[in-house]
Amino acid sequence: MTLLHSCQKAAELISQSLDEPLDMVDKLRLRVHLSMCGNCRNVQEQLNLIHKMGSQIGTLDLCDDSGEAPFPQGN
Ligand SMILES: [Zn+2]
Repeated sequence: MTLLHSCQKAAELISQSLDEPLDMVDKLRLRVHLSMCGNCRNVQEQLNLIHKMGSQIGTLDLCDDSGEAPFPQGN
């Protein structure tokens, strides 16, 4: 097993991991790279955030008709 030395490859794996689970080897390589490379940790954070926002927007869109508040308001 070779380590990831390229940030470009790491970024590819990061965005791939958002769409589909990585296989064990890729996951491990990515994890090792992220442990050494703060730059790619930032990239992963950004992509995760964008991905999360995207799926939240999709969910909100689907729930829009119910008229229910996302958080119950006590008091
Ligand atoms: Zn990197």
